[in-house]
Amino acid sequence: MTGGERIVVTHGVKVVKRFRWSMAHRLTHGYTGRCASLHGHEYEVGVTISGSMDKMGLVVDFGDVKKVCGGWIKEHLDHTTIVCEDDTPLLAFLQDEGQRHYSVPFNTTAENIAVHLRTKMQSALDEGLDTPLQVESITLMETPNSCVETP
Ligand SMILES: [Zn+2]
Repeated sequence: MTGGERIVVTHGVKVVKRFRWSMAHRLTHGYTGRCASLHGHEYEVGVTISGSMDKMGLVVDFGDVKKVCGGWIKEHLDHTTIVCEDDTPLLAFLQDEGQRHYSVPFNTTAENIAVHLRTKMQSALDEGLDTPLQVESITLMETPNSCVETP
């Protein structure tokens, strides 16, 4: 390499954006620990995104990720109860009382929520932005010390 040239990395740079929200849940499917009782968490998700870098040096504008991914979380999950469709007593209560809720076909473990979020964050990016972007992984913090990661 001669003087003045430099290697410009334009591939493999990943963007990570974090979001926090409050949500209640309880575990079902035969779970008998403390988390079988309805309780809440301040969840935090990290969305890791890849794509090609533009001439400006951006994979994606953080503000655009906030708009589409953060917007989806705020609309669907923030200050809701996430409830399994099979948990009919809780679902009936939430519906009867007009409580914000988000029903899903799975036990509401952090693992399942993270896998679900991976799909939803990809859809939010695909539908909300023109740039082709890939969700590489999701990290979901259920508490400051308890985190799950998707591939
Ligand atoms: Zn919990």
